Amino acid sequence: MKRLDTLEFEPRFARLGDAFSAVIKPSAIAQPLLVICSQSALALLDLPASTAEDPRLLQLASGEWHWPNVAPRAMVYSGHQFGGYTPRLGDGRGLLLGEVVNNAGEHWDVHLKGAGLTPFSRTGDGRAVLRSSIREFLASEYLHTLGIATSRALCVADSKTMVWREQRETAATLIRLAPSHIRFGHFEYFYYNQKNAELEQLHAHVLNDLYPECLSADEPLAALLSAVVKRTAETIALWQAYGFCHGVMNTDNMSILGLTFDFGPYAFLDDFKQAHICNHSDHHGRYAFNQQVAMGYWNLTAFAETLTRHVAVERLQEILDGYAAIQQQAYLTAMRARLGLRGEQEGDALLVDKLLAQMDHSAVDYTLFFRHLGELPVAEALAKLRDDFINRAAFDEWSAEFIARNADDPRSQEQRRAQMHAVNPLYMLRNYLIQIAIEAAEDGDYAPLHRLHQVLSSPFTEQEGCAEYAQRPPDWGKHLSISCSS
Ligand code: AMP
Ligand code: MG
Repeated sequence: MKRLDTLEFEPRFARLGDAFSAVIKPSAIAQPLLVICSQSALALLDLPASTAEDPRLLQLASGEWHWPNVAPRAMVYSGHQFGGYTPRLGDGRGLLLGEVVNNAGEHWDVHLKGAGLTPFSRTGDGRAVLRSSIREFLASEYLHTLGIATSRALCVADSKTMVWREQRETAATLIRLAPSHIRFGHFEYFYYNQKNAELEQLHAHVLNDLYPECLSADEPLAALLSAVVKRTAETIALWQAYGFCHGVMNTDNMSILGLTFDFGPYAFLDDFKQAHICNHSDHHGRYAFNQQVAMGYWNLTAFAETLTRHVAVERLQEILDGYAAIQQQAYLTAMRARLGLRGEQEGDALLVDKLLAQMDHSAVDYTLFFRHLGELPVAEALAKLRDDFINRAAFDEWSAEFIARNADDPRSQEQRRAQMHAVNPLYMLRNYLIQIAIEAAEDGDYAPLHRLHQVLSSPFTEQEGCAEYAQRPPDWGKHLSISCSS
């Protein structure tokens, strides 16, 4: 085990130099308080659970202290926001504090979000607020427990520094971990600015340090696109399978590692709704739940564009053309598991589509549907679930097909339940649960947040005394509008 001041670093990104980032010191928030810390994220840095009580952690999170031999850096990047190109974005409120190498040889960027002004702050104040920091913390750690690739969250700190959003709020920070913070937007910045030498430096860094397996390919950059297409398609497939709506799939929020990244006004679906729009600034539904697969493709196309000076367009297009099949395959694999289907049959995709079409016109809780489907033998479970569907005749028709599909299942109900429960969470990171935890935290009570995080860290296992976390939202919690100000 290590301590915060005995970590080891390897500046793989920092050594790219000043064309890629600006050296900036964090500006500390006042009278900081540690709000929450993730023990499993601490372990990624070989830090013991007791680090949560180490005053150094709060000093790091508040911007009062950073590693003396590592210069914090704000990255420059650009990106397509809601389809339009913004030539310069960059870390407007976040700093890469250091690139840690752990005992297993893994690399973890330690990024402080809410660290104050940088050359990329534009009109912003360089700060993050408590509610959005808590939201990112919970989602990162929850997605990870679901097995969905994501950046991680180490801790959140609140403070007495005040900032203005729609109202006066306290400035908070989040320490985020990811093997790299490179986004599609990094490539776009150097490509559109015709900075070819730097673009090639970026290519070399990404290939050598993040995708070394691509180096031996005939065309390493074509192999890179293939790998990024695959990871992005697989991550988005799991978003769709688990009802996760990202909300702001701009290219500057797309990780080159295919991680779920830069959480804003995200939401997990409560009732299943294909066209759900979680970001209330997304007036046209560009990033609606059922647009995410297409938007993933759009973003990959924007990334591929940046490779056109190095790889033939036809080759890039051919690789992009593979996206839909990879996505669909990964999605079907996840959905078969969620539905408890054994093996693969031709009609499975249609079976899934028909079910979702019926759910869409009903008021079916997307999480509990799958959980309850595994709870009892197939026919019994369906008979109970039927009540939630508006079009019972259509659901009965679907049920008959589903029963037929399961006809030769040799498993006992015990086995079936165990396998299904292992992939179908009982406890879901619901917006209303987050809201309760945030409101308490804003009043200085972190206990509800800690408890929520604790329950959600084992989402597949029923826990005693936690029934309230497995409920559908109450009326007030069904249509919460999540502000995209953060
Ligand atoms: P986001 O919507 O968080 O992905 O941010 C989009 C861009 O705006 C990024 O370049 C951020 O660094 C920047 N940004 C967001 N909020 C702030 C803020 N409060 N101060 C400075 N920059 C910000
Ligand atoms: Mg962003």
